[in-house]
Amino acid sequence: MAQYTPMMQQYLKIKADQKDAFLFFRLGDFYELFFDDALKASQELEITLTSRDGGGSERIPMCGVPYHSAENYIKQLIEKGYKVAICEQVEDPKATKGVVKREVVQLITPGTVMEGSMLDEKENNYLASLSAFDDGSYTVSYNDLTTGENSVALISGGFDAAMSELYSRPVKEVVVASDFNEEHKQMLSERLGYTVSHQDETEIVPEFHKLVEDVHQDKLLTGFGRLLNYIQHTQKRSLDHLQPVKIIELKQFMTLDMYSKRNLELLETLRKKGKSGSLLSVVDKTTTSMGARMLKKWMERPLLSADAISTRHEQVEGFLDQFFERETLRDELSNVYDLERLAGRVAFGNVNARDLIQLRNSLGRVPNILATLAQFTHPKIEKLYEKIDPLSDLKTLLDESIADDPPITVKEGGLIQDGFNGKLDDYRYASKNGKQWIAELEQKERTQTGIKSLKIGYNRVFGYYIEVTKANLRHLPEGRYERKQTLTNAERFITPELKEKETMILEAQEKSIELEYELFLEVREKVKTYVKRLQHLAEQISQIDVLQGFAQVAEAYQYVRPEYTDERIVNIKQGRHPVVEKVMKEGTFVPNDIYMDESTDVLLITGPNMSGKSTYMRQLALTAILGQMGCFVPCESASLPIFDQIFTRIGAADDLVSGHSTFMVEMLEANHALSHATENSMILLDEIGRGTSTYDGMALAQAIVEFIHEEIKAKTLFSTHYHELTTLDEQLNHLKNVHVRAEEYEGNVVFLHQIKEGPADESYGIHVAKLAHLPDVLIDRASELLDQLENAQPDKKVKELEESEQQLSLFVEEAKPKPVNEKRSSEIEKRLHSLDLMEMTPMDAMNELYQLQKRL
Ligand code: ADP
Repeated sequence: MAQYTPMMQQYLKIKADQKDAFLFFRLGDFYELFFDDALKASQELEITLTSRDGGGSERIPMCGVPYHSAENYIKQLIEKGYKVAICEQVEDPKATKGVVKREVVQLITPGTVMEGSMLDEKENNYLASLSAFDDGSYTVSYNDLTTGENSVALISGGFDAAMSELYSRPVKEVVVASDFNEEHKQMLSERLGYTVSHQDETEIVPEFHKLVEDVHQDKLLTGFGRLLNYIQHTQKRSLDHLQPVKIIELKQFMTLDMYSKRNLELLETLRKKGKSGSLLSVVDKTTTSMGARMLKKWMERPLLSADAISTRHEQVEGFLDQFFERETLRDELSNVYDLERLAGRVAFGNVNARDLIQLRNSLGRVPNILATLAQFTHPKIEKLYEKIDPLSDLKTLLDESIADDPPITVKEGGLIQDGFNGKLDDYRYASKNGKQWIAELEQKERTQTGIKSLKIGYNRVFGYYIEVTKANLRHLPEGRYERKQTLTNAERFITPELKEKETMILEAQEKSIELEYELFLEVREKVKTYVKRLQHLAEQISQIDVLQGFAQVAEAYQYVRPEYTDERIVNIKQGRHPVVEKVMKEGTFVPNDIYMDESTDVLLITGPNMSGKSTYMRQLALTAILGQMGCFVPCESASLPIFDQIFTRIGAADDLVSGHSTFMVEMLEANHALSHATENSMILLDEIGRGTSTYDGMALAQAIVEFIHEEIKAKTLFSTHYHELTTLDEQLNHLKNVHVRAEEYEGNVVFLHQIKEGPADESYGIHVAKLAHLPDVLIDRASELLDQLENAQPDKKVKELEESEQQLSLFVEEAKPKPVNEKRSSEIEKRLHSLDLMEMTPMDAMNELYQLQKRL
């Protein structure tokens, strides 16, 4: 250490506390990075790596970014999941000898960014903390620093359940104790891509007790305490806007585990990781970013209470009924800025006058919104707006205080309205008057001296001056004029009179700017006291926005209000898949009924590949989710039970959690469903068992169906290509077969995408291959192999299965060659039996058949 220069020593001392962050060390107009930080940052940011002498034997690697464009670089690092510690000079370099004092003033992390350009405005930016307890339970706490929202949930179902909960929100960073299970930590960071941070302190300081007044459980306090301590530790500034923590009652919401959220592509698609193609993209017709964020929350947590669901549906109905008023409302809403985040920034203390003007304009819209809402006649809409507080007092304050077109900077004046403060008006008058006086003086000097080109100007160095061209100098009287500056063609002078006025004008200007800044800070502080009310208003507006959006969706895509009953009946008429129907040409999607009466728990769906089985299954889940989040649903009519949970094993198996094989993932997901589902749940299992050898897979598939049927009784859609399973309906009373209809037309298969009762009768795999234009020789060979397989001897495995009396007897028996009864079998039969089919080409077989036929 001693070898380094004092500044490098200071750097190293600060860096020692910021080991896992890039330390942005302020040096004049730059933030500099040193040592490993510099090596890594120069790569990540593609900036030049240089070096600097720091007193040691070797030069120190260094790179830097200009102070004024730092935000963009910080953003890049944060997006990559890194943290950045901002270290500023905290005293005036001119006023100190030696090394300027420096301190870390903020730690920016992916979960705590506040800067607008680093945020996705339609998405919350959550910081989460995860705390594990000895009894296997967890707490998951959330904070969105931009909106001040806090919440916490207690989860008893182990790490898996905690992960599913965590996965339900756009979380960027997870805070855990330093002794948190290493394997789990690794899963969080490597598999799920969260930035993982540590915080061991969980005590909530008195200042924040008001946030947890309603929390009485120690575990919740510990969990939330960890999060709060981390925020305090990183932010080092006002956290006035934090809202009291909400306890997430998991029982209020439908449980959608992590697998289902991904498989059903609610918020993003599996392949592209983008929003387009997701359910959200179809039903998002909100007009504000606050509304978009709320919609996402609703989608992540569909409701369980019939009353709450029905209230939302009625509100949607209310909006749906009145098209013109809705259009006006949408128009008004679209002019409202992001009040929620504005409120966050007000509380943080980093708003400028332009932000306050945005706030003022947005508040200015509220009376119109209220007036528009008043035109809706539905009583439930009245409920929506009667409690809205338009914050007219805040609007008045902003109207009176903030100038109409203020600059971005807050230290150069132009912020405050005339008439807001008497003293400021005086200064402004003096400065304006002074300028008038100068103009008059110019006139007077011209007349007195007779120099027409004489002018009075101003510059920063000399202040006001009288300028006379060299040619005219001889007209200038001696005495009063004091020479200040010589230019090529002119001379500049001052007079005592001019100096005196100048002092007055500049003083007035300077004072007025100072005063403006003070007044602005005062106004800003006053606005701070409105933060809670603003947040409340933001929430109400978001809700209205989401609901009008639902009405918009219902109208645009012909969705209807679903009906909920206590009976365990699913009855959807002409249901559609909300996303697939949108990507297809209009009118080409084939709607289907889904009917499961009280005594039907399992629908076994058979049909060729690509015929629409998984579309049909997803359609049910998406309809249930849309309905329970308060949206209307894509069908002609729907009567549904309220589902407590939805489980899926569907679609592309991409293993996000543990690097298991496809089949293992399939089994893990199935197990998750089987161990958590209740009779009020929905289970979708698509082609279970596909990932392993045929008999294995089929045996598992059947055992799973039986288990669901006997033990769980959840409403289940089960698609399979094991045609043999379709006979299960003989033994399982609550199982019904349906199939997707396909027809052969001129040797090709035509998918009608229609669901019909009963099992499918043929396998169309090869026809599908033909449709995909695989080469003819290949198709012929496949048909040939299929024939052979259908006639093949069963292998040892099947015999074993048969011996263990698995329920596969049917299949096995069919495949088994019949023993030959020598006496009764005809010559032809004997001949047939002796053929070694496996060794024959189709041509040989044809010839043989031809010969046999001739003998008849
Ligand atoms: P499967 O699960 O039987 O292999 P999918 O459900 O994946 O089949 O559907 C395959 C394709 O068929 C879909 O991508 C879609 O283009 C089309 N499809 C499915 N259902 C319908 C439908 N009801 N109407 C029209 N096209 C459909």
